[in-house]
Amino acid sequence: MSTPANSPRSPERPRVVGRFAPTPSGRMHLGNAFSALMAWLGARSAGGSMVMRVEDLDPRAQSRERADLLMRDLAWLGLNWDEGPFYQSERTEVYEQVLARLEGAGLTYPCFCTRSQLHAASAPHASDGTYVYQGTCRNLSASEVAERMLARQPATRLRVPSAGDPRGTIEVHDLVYGVHVETLARDCGDFLVRRSDGVFAYQLAVSVDDALMGVNQVVRGRDLLGSAARQTYLLGLLGFDAPAYAHVPLLVAPDGRRLSKRERDLDLGALREEGVRPERIVGRLAAAVGLVDAGTDISPIELLSEFSWETISRHNSDIVVGDEFLL
Ligand code: GLU
Repeated sequence: MSTPANSPRSPERPRVVGRFAPTPSGRMHLGNAFSALMAWLGARSAGGSMVMRVEDLDPRAQSRERADLLMRDLAWLGLNWDEGPFYQSERTEVYEQVLARLEGAGLTYPCFCTRSQLHAASAPHASDGTYVYQGTCRNLSASEVAERMLARQPATRLRVPSAGDPRGTIEVHDLVYGVHVETLARDCGDFLVRRSDGVFAYQLAVSVDDALMGVNQVVRGRDLLGSAARQTYLLGLLGFDAPAYAHVPLLVAPDGRRLSKRERDLDLGALREEGVRPERIVGRLAAAVGLVDAGTDISPIELLSEFSWETISRHNSDIVVGDEFLL
């Protein structure tokens, strides 16, 4: 169908809605602060808004107290939000409904594999460090399922299209790392949507929440770049558009190891106690991706005019954090 030359075209671009999606399993560290800063700048520099979603799906590993601390640390850095906090732990009914839809469409199946079976049968690892599922439980008969149910509570997996099916090859256009293509059958296999202990899987909850909360720009560490294909696929099945993705560099120790919660001295609790100012932290993180000169102390608001995804994409190697990083 042709469009008359003088008809109005795609009027306005939708407003950017970004999000913070912390998992409250410990104190925020410098790496989380960096992703949060990029998420905030990405949305606010485009005049957009921010949603706060606490990813506390696993009740054994996470707590409200930790979530409160994370939110206070973000506020202390100068990062605010407009909606939320929403708690994933309070949204299980929503995930139940979505899972029922997928189950009803025959897109899922129960998986009885134990951790050691998964390891033994594992193909080369998927891009995010997990194994590629080999489909062991994909074609169990109804009687096999019934029999195994007696012994073990299953997890639930989503069927991905088989290797030659173009619907299973997903192209992600990342604002920082460019085009990333995954073929789901080869790169991850049928993936978990619910764990065997009943906890909903990250891929399901995060996709559903981003869609239902109107999030259209997802900013997070590049360790999750591989997940974007799974999430795009799942969103498509549910009839939603995928958000724009911007994965950002990771913070690493001088020996190349990823900074982790174990580096206590780099968590925001310790840094605040030491008297480090938020403008120092924000300035050093911003300088690492070329937004300001080294040695600048600056607030997130002052950084808004300096921010662009183009700049970040030119400085997208991992950020080495040595002893002198915050000096
Ligand atoms: N909750 C995840 C984390 O704290 C982030 C998930 C996401 O951004 O998609 O690492």
